[in-house]
Amino acid sequence: MNGKTVMACIEAAHATLKEHTDEIAALDQQIGDGDHIFNLLRGIDALLAMRAEIEAEAFASALDLAASKLLSTVGGSSGPLFFSLLHGMAKASAASAHAMSLADAARIFAAGVDAVAQRGKAGIGSKTMMDVLIPVASRFAELADTNAAPEAVFDALPQVAQANMLATRDMLATKGRASFLGERSRGHIDPGARSSQLMIEAVCARLAQDRE
Ligand code: ADP
Ligand code: MG
Repeated sequence: MNGKTVMACIEAAHATLKEHTDEIAALDQQIGDGDHIFNLLRGIDALLAMRAEIEAEAFASALDLAASKLLSTVGGSSGPLFFSLLHGMAKASAASAHAMSLADAARIFAAGVDAVAQRGKAGIGSKTMMDVLIPVASRFAELADTNAAPEAVFDALPQVAQANMLATRDMLATKGRASFLGERSRGHIDPGARSSQLMIEAVCARLAQDRE
């Protein structure tokens, strides 16, 4: 895991968000202000423009570099939240000098998700990206605890993300802009849950491919 890995994951996230731009824009038009995917793509485009710098860094500093860039380019609610995710992961990975184990990766991801929770003060059930991030972090920790094979992890986490993304459809939004709609927020998938799920799926597929 190094800056090249981080860049490969950013590319994978970019590809899936480009592919699903119209769909995510429509979701955010229904329960938000429509800008979520465009905020995210602006940030990811800025990361693609600094490929050489990110690739030259070690894992933790590459994540930190990307985090700061996202903070200054994404905006909206999700800019500071994605900053927290990557910065939280960077802080947790700085300590491990040895090659990253599955347990390290699970702990690092969980630290990132905890940082988002502290920033956004949303738990499970508020109809946000946390409804995807928290269950994925929990399942990742369980799989690491039972010494699952990396292939099994790359297979399981996208399924957890998918099921929990779909579950946001029936939830009442109690955080973020969608909460202003009250009961009318029900019946629509949360755009941040969808973008997070797609990025998790793409990153897992990319990391699985790199192992082949
Ligand atoms: P804004 O609502 O400011 O326009 P974005 O459109 O960038 O922000 O992002 C909206 C997404 O951010 C929502 O779909 C939701 O998943 C996520 N979100 C909003 N508030 C929070 C929060 N407090 N914690 C976690 N995620 C949140
Ligand atoms: Mg928005």
